[in-house]
Amino acid sequence: MALTKEQYDSIMLHYSRARARHRREQEQRRAEILRKIPAYRDAERAVSEQGIAALRQAVGSGAHLDAAALRQAAEKAKEEKRRLLTGAGYPADYLDLTYDCPDCRDTGYIGTEKCHCLRQQEISLLYHQSHVEELARTENFSTLSTRWYTGIDLNRFTAAARAAREFVRLFGKDYHNLYFYGTVGTGKSFLSVCIAHELIEKGHPVLYFSSSSLFEQLSSAAFDRNRAGGLAALQNDICSCDLLIIDDLGTELNSSFVATQLFSLINNRDMGRRATIISSNLSIEELQKRYSDRIFSRIASRYDIYQFSGPDIRYAKRLEQLQT
Ligand SMILES: [Zn+2]
Repeated sequence: MALTKEQYDSIMLHYSRARARHRREQEQRRAEILRKIPAYRDAERAVSEQGIAALRQAVGSGAHLDAAALRQAAEKAKEEKRRLLTGAGYPADYLDLTYDCPDCRDTGYIGTEKCHCLRQQEISLLYHQSHVEELARTENFSTLSTRWYTGIDLNRFTAAARAAREFVRLFGKDYHNLYFYGTVGTGKSFLSVCIAHELIEKGHPVLYFSSSSLFEQLSSAAFDRNRAGGLAALQNDICSCDLLIIDDLGTELNSSFVATQLFSLINNRDMGRRATIISSNLSIEELQKRYSDRIFSRIASRYDIYQFSGPDIRYAKRLEQLQT
């Protein structure tokens, strides 16, 4: 699907603000260094003075500018500046320009190709993904707690949390899918949001859908003729993002359309070795009953399956808030 011009412009504005912010921060770091290391200014001055002197000489004598010698002198001065920085306990690259995304230097493009950070922003706008980033403020690995669990519930949650961290660590190196299932409020969505957050931070295009919203969008793309883009474009976006998360599978309205679409996207992503995480109240045997044998067998063979159990944590938390 395509962005509107306003959406595209707002993303480009975001990049230009990021570049301006990094330039400002670089200036601030430079001012700090000039204050703390007076010799640094001399080293800076030396570079430009050498350049001007070489230029004067070339103009005066009618000779060509000795570019190689000039480059050599610049290299030497750069070395001297780095030496001054590290000597005062700063990293050698302290005054280099930094970027939110070093891959595209905050331009959104690598050559003529869209950078992964631009693709994530497109996805985010097109599919209203801001709720994931909103959730991730309170639900992330640093707020993960096992205090709600005991006994077998604790063992299960600990195993799933370990798998979630491993999933993030090995992402892009090793191909894995996760199937989290169990009763309501036992931490399945929490771990999915943790993973989404970490991977978005690392610049991976991630799509996070509740199951009902995913199939509503697919069906309106398939059956609503007025909708721009169409089913193929939506399917392509869903199948090509680095990670797809389907939350609460089984809560959507059941139909043969859903079963077909679900198989098609699980299958396409698997063939492209693109990771998918599904959370559900349904055990995999129940998947077989609700959808089809082939969905069951694909998930049983291609997904790492983790069971969750215990009291409804969302309910327990709310209760605790009311009591304090
Ligand atoms: Zn980028």
